[in-house]
Amino acid sequence: MSDVTDRQRVFTTAAHEIAHQWFGDLVTMAWWDDLWLNEGFATWLEGRTTAKLHPEWDIDKTGPAYVSRAAMGSDAYATTHPVVQKVATVEQASQAFDGITYEKGSAVIGMLEDYVGADAWRDGVRRYIGKRAYGNAVTGDLWQEIDAAAPGKQFLQVAHDFTLQPGVPLIKVAASCNAGTTVVRLEQGEYTLDRPDKQPLRWHVPVAVRSGDKEVRVLVDGSAQLQLPGCAAPVLVNAGQKGYYRTLYAPAQFKALTAGFATLPVVDQLGVLLDTSALATVGLQPQADLLGLADTVPVGAASDLWVTVATVYAGIDDLFQDDPQSQAAWRRYALSRLAPEFATLGWDGRQGDSAQVQQLRAHLIDTLGDMGDATVIAEARRRFAAFQADPTALSPELRYSVLGIVARNADAATWDALHRMAQKETSSMIRDQDYLLLAGAKDATLTQRALDMALTDEPGATNSASMITTVAGEHPDLAFDFAVAHRDHVDTLIDTTSRARYYPRLGAGSVDLKMVDKIQAYAQHYLAATSRRDADAAIADIRTRVKLRAQRVPQIKAWLAGRKG
Ligand SMILES: [Zn+2]
Repeated sequence: MSDVTDRQRVFTTAAHEIAHQWFGDLVTMAWWDDLWLNEGFATWLEGRTTAKLHPEWDIDKTGPAYVSRAAMGSDAYATTHPVVQKVATVEQASQAFDGITYEKGSAVIGMLEDYVGADAWRDGVRRYIGKRAYGNAVTGDLWQEIDAAAPGKQFLQVAHDFTLQPGVPLIKVAASCNAGTTVVRLEQGEYTLDRPDKQPLRWHVPVAVRSGDKEVRVLVDGSAQLQLPGCAAPVLVNAGQKGYYRTLYAPAQFKALTAGFATLPVVDQLGVLLDTSALATVGLQPQADLLGLADTVPVGAASDLWVTVATVYAGIDDLFQDDPQSQAAWRRYALSRLAPEFATLGWDGRQGDSAQVQQLRAHLIDTLGDMGDATVIAEARRRFAAFQADPTALSPELRYSVLGIVARNADAATWDALHRMAQKETSSMIRDQDYLLLAGAKDATLTQRALDMALTDEPGATNSASMITTVAGEHPDLAFDFAVAHRDHVDTLIDTTSRARYYPRLGAGSVDLKMVDKIQAYAQHYLAATSRRDADAAIADIRTRVKLRAQRVPQIKAWLAGRKG
């Protein structure tokens, strides 16, 4: 009784673990410094295997836009680290199992493969595996083989820049028309969330530029200039979205790109929208650029694009969490955009719905429910009542969304009903989900009941720890204070080496600067100086959120007020 997202998760996890037979078992990293040789490769290969064996999930078509950006959020903070890093202690080894090692590692592999070509990449990896089989390896052993398979590419330079330095390059784009030819100028900077005045690091960045059906590839070393025939089509940078960098267009190029947005391949639409969102977040682009771009997406556009639009809208909704009046105005607009798309899908699955359509349906129900859409909440409750009378009345595809909305908006009687359901559940996967639902209520009294339950034996240790984490989603201060107050007990629910990460992350979503002091106090009391990376990251996260929110909200209100006419 699992939905398509559950099936994908189970499949990619299995594919990841099987990939470790080569990247981990057959060839083993010499030391933890090179952990990414295991985890980056297994993450990259899980996507490969899934695309090959489940073509109907169609992850190839849009995957690169997400894969290349999955780690950029954490990589844009001062607290990040290079993919290849020095590891000296057990806790540092534990900290190394993070988004930089897995997701950035995988993204950099995808970019380097795209740069040297799939055949050269595969030949190099085969030679590396052949030479190091049943032995140990360091990153340089791999680079040597790829470099030999792709001569004349400055491969070592590119590979070193992206694995020995931390951070996210920013490619700034400007263009002009000269006698029927588009002249494109590229300049490399750095995308950061918490250091607007930072002196950019220098990378050699492989960049693909497209205009219409013409594509040019350059290796940007500080800056570059190139030409494309014709001036009619907008200039697109990072065509295909394999590059590990953000793109910032000059105003005229962004305007042209917005006007021609519908003509871009979906993967590039996603990439442009995700970059615009990231750049608007830090103030490198006006909020009107992001809102205007998302506003052009029509009913019936690609499902993945609508998922991303809904995610962008949910992120903006969060900015208004302590300003109900402004939030109501924002929600009127956001719901007016999302509800018509949802209306074309309906609640119930249809024969032949693709995986993307199924996921979009669930995602829209979740987002509309979170934003308080009264019709969606009422329908979720109606379906929950029917499900209580007849468990087969609710399809696996809708189960999590419907129960999620009901649980978030639960009163005590509903919460008790959900609790009885969790106790009776025999499937361990569904049982795990049910206990997390109990922790997702908005009502603070019910949240407290979930926290108290997490300290009993009922949910099981893993679920107990996850319940507290789930509470942190809506109530970070409550979850952090509770966990620290019951530290002796909570410590028994988590792995010793995870403690340095678990507690700070509970508070990381806070919008209250007092949480910074609380996390600092926790780190000083309980964490060795070498184990404070996650605490520092959580603190940077809160400070940055509070600061950027204050910059964004007035612009968003002005945009909303301006579009009334
Ligand atoms: Zn792994």
